[in-house]
Amino acid sequence: MKQDIQERWEKALGVVKQSIGKNSFINWISKLRLVDIDGNNIYLTAKSNFIRDTVISRYGEELKSALNSVGLPITTIHIDADQQDVVSRVHEEQPNEPAIAQPIQEEKDGVDTFSILDPKLTFETFVVGKPNEFAYAAAMRVSESSNAQYNPLFLYGGVGLGKTHLMHSIAWNIKKSDPSRKVVYLSAEKFMYLFIKSLRFKNSMSFKEHFRTVDVLMVDDVQFIGGKDATQEEFFHTFNELVDSNRQVIISADKSPSDLDGMEERLKSRLGWGLVADIHPSTYELRLGILQSKARNMGMQISAKVLEFLAFKITSNIRELEGALNRIIAHATLVGRELTIDVAQDVLKDLLRANEKHITIEGIQKKVCEYYGIKFSDITSTKRVKSIARARQVAMYLAKQLTTKSFPEIGRNFGGKDHSTVVHSVKKVNELMQSDREFAADLEVLQKSIEH
Ligand code: ADP
Ligand code: MG
Repeated sequence: MKQDIQERWEKALGVVKQSIGKNSFINWISKLRLVDIDGNNIYLTAKSNFIRDTVISRYGEELKSALNSVGLPITTIHIDADQQDVVSRVHEEQPNEPAIAQPIQEEKDGVDTFSILDPKLTFETFVVGKPNEFAYAAAMRVSESSNAQYNPLFLYGGVGLGKTHLMHSIAWNIKKSDPSRKVVYLSAEKFMYLFIKSLRFKNSMSFKEHFRTVDVLMVDDVQFIGGKDATQEEFFHTFNELVDSNRQVIISADKSPSDLDGMEERLKSRLGWGLVADIHPSTYELRLGILQSKARNMGMQISAKVLEFLAFKITSNIRELEGALNRIIAHATLVGRELTIDVAQDVLKDLLRANEKHITIEGIQKKVCEYYGIKFSDITSTKRVKSIARARQVAMYLAKQLTTKSFPEIGRNFGGKDHSTVVHSVKKVNELMQSDREFAADLEVLQKSIEH
């Protein structure tokens, strides 16, 4: 490689560091190695898939513009991941905030919270839908009011549904509207670590002081202090003092306050005193919205069909959905092939398998009976009453749509009907969907309720 290119690369690194901040730089960009530059393409290696995906999704644009600013006309970044890296795999399995996880060891107490917050996690980049609209509104409200009207704000929901994203958003919003307010954001693990450290060095006074002078305290993932009695005790006192003096406290957890394991009763009840907002599992619409927004932010043109496919198939959580998107984008850029559903399916084999819902004919029959209010025995009978016959046709149609069973197999599961009966049912339902909009809408709801 030419000396000149290496020098420019190093210069570009300096520019990125300026634009994304030291911590993000250390966590992500410094883990990249330059392999080659060829015209508009740059080839890098990363220590893991995880680093590669994050760099591409979060810092791709910054990296590109930094390279351009030092005279390298890069349009495409190719990152190859070094599969041997074990440490990063441990990281991938622990869905914690990577940008925050590392500085724990490096930080001194009293560090500026904003240097560890991810600038990409803002209200602007948060896509709002039915499952999270309440939590979003609550977070927004808390970030806008200075009188701690809802105290504490307790956000809860499953892994990867956006709790941390909302907390970072609140912090950024407060910084924007009133930079004089002292905001401290930390994970419960970090809280515990600082507390234990202060005990060891016998300066628990300064530990208390540190937290008791903040205007807004955010503690992420408090489920981690369950069972840790001394830390809980300390947390409880800190918490009470802040709330009593009208300072805002914001908490997140994976469960509601009353469901937190290993947590003292008085703390549980205290945590639920303010506003409790939960984030529900995502819907297809929200997932699609998030994918469209991410693709747009990354400046990628991806066919609507592929995005729909991902939103339909990856239902576990948003983090996995993002990971899937990053992976197919990385693959498409590396291989230079067009992004089709087939390619996506191939690249995401393992993820898709894990997200596969096991839908059985019996499960479909039960749901359909429930929906039409008929008995389970009716659906496999030969009764010709219109409502029963219609439910049966719908169930056969859904069995064809949602399982891989053949016509004869489906027929057998409906009390030994002939395969032509199934073929006829499917045809009939298709016709009805064309001619009767209300029927089509109902069927869609029914189908979704079976899929989710
Ligand atoms: P949690 O803290 O609940 O485990 P995170 O806040 O870390 O989840 O979210 C996981 C990933 O999904 C993050 O990259 C986040 O930006 C993204 N994400 C979650 N919800 C949304 C949303 N509604 N809009 C955009 N991105 C989202
Ligand atoms: Mg989180």
